Amino acid sequence: MENDDAALVLFSGGQDSTTCLAWALARHRRVETVGFAYGQRHAVELDCRAPLRAALAAMPDWGDRLGPDHMVDLTGAIAAVGATALTSEAEIAIGAEGLPTTFVPGRNLQFLVSAAAIAYRRGLRRIVGGMCETDYSGYPDCRDDTIKAMQVALNLGMQRRFVLEMPLMWRDKAATWAMAERLGGAALVGLIVEQTHSCYRGERGIRHDWGHGCGDCPACALRAAGWRRWREMRY
Ligand code: ZN
Repeated sequence: MENDDAALVLFSGGQDSTTCLAWALARHRRVETVGFAYGQRHAVELDCRAPLRAALAAMPDWGDRLGPDHMVDLTGAIAAVGATALTSEAEIAIGAEGLPTTFVPGRNLQFLVSAAAIAYRRGLRRIVGGMCETDYSGYPDCRDDTIKAMQVALNLGMQRRFVLEMPLMWRDKAATWAMAERLGGAALVGLIVEQTHSCYRGERGIRHDWGHGCGDCPACALRAAGWRRWREMRY
Protein backbone atom coordinates (compact mmCIF):
# COMPACT_ATOMS: atom_id res chain seq x y z
CA MET A 1 0.00 0.00 0.00
CA GLU A 2 1.11 3.53 -0.72
CA ASN A 3 1.60 5.87 2.20
CA ASP A 4 0.27 9.29 1.20
CA ASP A 5 2.49 11.12 3.68
CA ALA A 6 5.69 9.33 2.70
CA ALA A 7 8.26 10.68 0.29
CA LEU A 8 11.36 9.64 -1.58
CA VAL A 9 13.82 12.51 -2.10
CA LEU A 10 16.33 12.56 -4.96
CA PHE A 11 19.35 13.47 -2.84
CA SER A 12 22.70 14.15 -4.49
CA GLY A 13 24.47 16.03 -1.69
CA GLY A 14 24.27 19.40 -3.45
CA GLN A 15 22.65 22.63 -2.27
CA ASP A 16 19.36 22.12 -4.09
CA SER A 17 18.70 18.52 -3.12
CA THR A 18 19.71 19.19 0.49
CA THR A 19 17.19 22.05 0.63
CA CYS A 20 14.59 19.68 -0.88
CA LEU A 21 15.36 17.04 1.73
CA ALA A 22 14.85 19.61 4.50
CA TRP A 23 11.61 20.70 2.83
CA ALA A 24 10.37 17.09 2.73
CA LEU A 25 11.38 16.44 6.36
CA ALA A 26 9.45 19.53 7.46
CA ARG A 27 6.34 18.39 5.59
CA HIS A 28 6.13 14.57 5.42
CA ARG A 29 6.09 12.06 8.21
CA ARG A 30 8.28 9.49 6.51
CA VAL A 31 11.14 10.41 4.20
CA GLU A 32 13.63 8.18 2.41
CA THR A 33 16.46 9.25 0.09
CA VAL A 34 17.92 7.99 -3.15
CA GLY A 35 21.29 8.81 -4.69
CA PHE A 36 22.71 7.97 -8.10
CA ALA A 37 26.18 7.03 -9.25
CA TYR A 38 26.42 7.62 -12.99
CA GLY A 39 30.15 7.80 -13.58
CA GLN A 40 30.33 11.46 -12.58
CA ARG A 41 33.87 12.88 -12.81
CA HIS A 42 33.96 13.66 -9.12
CA ALA A 43 32.40 11.63 -6.35
CA VAL A 44 32.81 14.58 -3.94
CA GLU A 45 29.09 15.30 -3.98
CA LEU A 46 28.21 11.68 -3.15
CA ASP A 47 30.67 11.74 -0.24
CA CYS A 48 28.70 14.68 1.22
CA ARG A 49 25.48 12.65 1.40
CA ALA A 50 25.96 10.55 4.56
CA PRO A 51 27.25 13.42 6.77
CA LEU A 52 24.43 15.66 5.51
CA ARG A 53 21.79 13.02 6.25
CA ALA A 54 23.23 12.60 9.76
CA ALA A 55 23.23 16.36 10.35
CA LEU A 56 19.63 16.76 9.12
CA ALA A 57 18.53 13.85 11.33
CA ALA A 58 20.01 15.76 14.28
CA MET A 59 17.75 18.79 13.63
CA PRO A 60 14.69 19.11 15.91
CA ASP A 61 11.79 16.78 14.88
CA TRP A 62 13.48 15.45 11.75
CA GLY A 63 15.39 12.46 13.13
CA ASP A 64 12.31 10.26 13.55
CA ARG A 65 11.15 10.99 10.01
CA LEU A 66 14.32 10.17 8.11
CA GLY A 67 14.30 6.59 6.85
CA PRO A 68 16.75 4.56 4.80
CA ASP A 69 18.96 5.74 1.96
CA HIS A 70 19.05 3.96 -1.40
CA MET A 71 21.95 4.08 -3.86
CA VAL A 72 21.40 3.25 -7.53
CA ASP A 73 24.33 2.68 -9.87
CA LEU A 74 23.44 3.97 -13.34
CA THR A 75 27.04 4.08 -14.52
CA GLY A 76 26.45 1.53 -17.23
CA ALA A 77 23.24 3.19 -18.36
CA ILE A 78 24.55 6.76 -18.48
CA ALA A 79 28.35 6.96 -18.63
CA ALA A 80 28.66 4.21 -21.22
CA VAL A 81 26.27 5.93 -23.61
CA GLY A 82 28.40 8.97 -24.26
CA ALA A 83 30.96 11.28 -22.73
CA THR A 84 29.78 14.65 -21.41
CA ALA A 85 31.63 17.24 -19.35
CA LEU A 86 30.06 15.81 -16.18
CA THR A 87 31.26 12.28 -16.85
CA SER A 88 34.59 12.87 -18.63
CA GLU A 89 37.36 15.42 -18.86
CA ALA A 90 35.62 17.23 -21.75
CA GLU A 91 35.62 21.01 -21.42
CA ILE A 92 32.66 22.72 -19.70
CA ALA A 93 31.24 25.00 -22.42
CA ILE A 94 28.17 25.59 -24.56
CA GLY A 95 27.84 22.85 -27.18
CA ALA A 96 26.64 23.00 -30.77
CA GLU A 97 22.96 22.60 -29.83
CA GLY A 98 23.05 25.53 -27.42
CA LEU A 99 23.11 23.23 -24.38
CA PRO A 100 26.00 23.14 -21.89
CA THR A 101 28.40 20.21 -22.38
CA THR A 102 27.50 19.26 -18.79
CA PHE A 103 24.10 18.13 -20.12
CA VAL A 104 23.79 14.35 -19.78
CA PRO A 105 20.94 13.36 -22.14
CA GLY A 106 18.08 11.72 -20.28
CA ARG A 107 19.85 11.76 -16.93
CA ASN A 108 17.01 13.26 -14.90
CA LEU A 109 14.48 11.08 -16.73
CA GLN A 110 16.44 7.97 -15.75
CA PHE A 111 16.69 9.25 -12.17
CA LEU A 112 12.90 9.62 -12.01
CA VAL A 113 12.23 6.17 -13.48
CA SER A 114 14.57 4.55 -10.93
CA ALA A 115 13.19 6.66 -8.08
CA ALA A 116 9.62 5.69 -8.99
CA ALA A 117 10.58 2.00 -9.02
CA ILE A 118 11.99 2.35 -5.49
CA ALA A 119 8.97 4.39 -4.37
CA TYR A 120 6.71 1.67 -5.80
CA ARG A 121 8.51 -1.05 -3.87
CA ARG A 122 8.69 1.01 -0.66
CA GLY A 123 5.10 2.28 -0.79
CA LEU A 124 6.09 5.96 -1.00
CA ARG A 125 3.62 8.18 -2.81
CA ARG A 126 5.62 11.37 -3.19
CA ILE A 127 8.81 11.79 -5.18
CA VAL A 128 10.69 14.99 -4.40
CA GLY A 129 13.36 16.49 -6.65
CA GLY A 130 15.33 19.71 -7.00
CA MET A 131 14.62 20.28 -10.68
CA CYS A 132 14.26 23.97 -11.42
CA GLU A 133 13.20 25.90 -14.47
CA THR A 134 14.10 29.35 -13.10
CA ASP A 135 17.89 29.24 -12.75
CA TYR A 136 18.32 26.17 -14.89
CA SER A 137 21.25 25.94 -17.23
CA GLY A 138 18.98 25.18 -20.18
CA TYR A 139 18.59 21.51 -19.30
CA PRO A 140 15.34 20.43 -20.99
CA ASP A 141 14.82 17.61 -18.46
CA CYS A 142 14.49 20.18 -15.64
CA ARG A 143 11.48 21.86 -17.20
CA ASP A 144 8.12 21.84 -15.47
CA ASP A 145 6.44 20.34 -18.55
CA THR A 146 9.00 17.51 -18.65
CA ILE A 147 8.32 16.68 -14.99
CA LYS A 148 4.54 16.81 -15.45
CA ALA A 149 4.82 14.51 -18.48
CA MET A 150 7.00 12.12 -16.46
CA GLN A 151 4.43 12.05 -13.66
CA VAL A 152 1.78 10.98 -16.16
CA ALA A 153 4.07 8.39 -17.78
CA LEU A 154 5.16 6.89 -14.45
CA ASN A 155 1.60 6.70 -13.14
CA LEU A 156 0.37 5.01 -16.31
CA GLY A 157 3.37 2.71 -16.61
CA MET A 158 3.43 1.63 -12.95
CA GLN A 159 -0.28 1.92 -12.20
CA ARG A 160 0.20 4.23 -9.23
CA ARG A 161 -0.72 7.75 -8.19
CA PHE A 162 2.72 9.19 -7.60
CA VAL A 163 2.97 12.91 -6.97
CA LEU A 164 6.17 14.49 -8.26
CA GLU A 165 6.95 17.41 -5.95
CA MET A 166 9.51 19.94 -7.18
CA PRO A 167 9.69 22.67 -4.53
CA LEU A 168 12.42 24.62 -6.34
CA MET A 169 10.80 24.64 -9.79
CA TRP A 170 9.97 28.37 -9.73
CA ARG A 171 12.60 29.52 -7.25
CA ASP A 172 15.93 31.06 -8.18
CA LYS A 173 19.07 30.38 -6.15
CA ALA A 174 18.49 33.41 -3.90
CA ALA A 175 15.02 32.08 -3.06
CA THR A 176 16.52 28.63 -2.41
CA TRP A 177 18.81 30.12 0.27
CA ALA A 178 15.82 31.98 1.73
CA MET A 179 13.84 28.74 1.80
CA ALA A 180 16.64 26.96 3.69
CA GLU A 181 16.65 29.72 6.28
CA ARG A 182 12.87 29.51 6.66
CA LEU A 183 13.00 25.72 7.10
CA GLY A 184 15.94 25.38 9.45
CA GLY A 185 17.24 28.82 10.37
CA ALA A 186 20.90 29.71 10.55
CA ALA A 187 21.76 26.11 11.48
CA LEU A 188 20.49 24.76 8.16
CA VAL A 189 22.04 27.59 6.13
CA GLY A 190 25.37 26.94 7.85
CA LEU A 191 25.10 23.23 7.16
CA ILE A 192 24.41 23.85 3.47
CA VAL A 193 27.30 26.32 3.19
CA GLU A 194 29.80 23.99 4.88
CA GLN A 195 28.76 20.53 3.79
CA THR A 196 26.98 20.58 0.43
CA HIS A 197 28.83 20.46 -2.86
CA SER A 198 27.91 22.11 -6.18
CA CYS A 199 31.23 22.70 -7.99
CA TYR A 200 31.47 20.97 -11.37
CA ARG A 201 35.24 20.71 -10.95
CA GLY A 202 34.91 18.82 -7.68
CA GLU A 203 36.99 21.36 -5.76
CA ARG A 204 36.48 21.58 -1.99
CA GLY A 205 39.57 23.51 -0.96
CA ILE A 206 38.61 27.17 -1.06
CA ARG A 207 35.96 28.27 1.44
CA HIS A 208 33.97 31.25 0.12
CA ASP A 209 31.16 32.86 2.11
CA TRP A 210 28.71 30.72 0.03
CA GLY A 211 30.63 27.49 0.57
CA HIS A 212 33.40 25.45 -1.01
CA GLY A 213 34.24 25.36 -4.72
CA CYS A 214 36.48 26.59 -7.51
CA GLY A 215 34.49 29.84 -7.73
CA ASP A 216 34.23 30.16 -11.49
CA CYS A 217 32.61 27.08 -13.04
CA PRO A 218 28.89 27.59 -13.97
CA ALA A 219 27.67 25.78 -10.84
CA CYS A 220 29.86 27.87 -8.51
CA ALA A 221 28.93 31.08 -10.33
CA LEU A 222 25.20 30.34 -9.94
CA ARG A 223 25.55 29.43 -6.27
CA ALA A 224 27.67 32.51 -5.49
CA ALA A 225 25.35 34.90 -7.37
CA GLY A 226 22.30 33.48 -5.59
CA TRP A 227 24.01 33.86 -2.22
CA ARG A 228 24.87 37.51 -2.94
CA ARG A 229 21.32 38.33 -4.08
CA TRP A 230 19.87 36.65 -0.99
CA ARG A 231 22.21 38.54 1.34
CA GLU A 232 21.29 41.84 -0.38
CA MET A 233 17.58 41.09 -0.04
CA ARG A 234 18.04 40.31 3.64
CA TYR A 235 20.10 43.29 4.77
ZN1 ZN B 1 33.27 25.30 -9.34
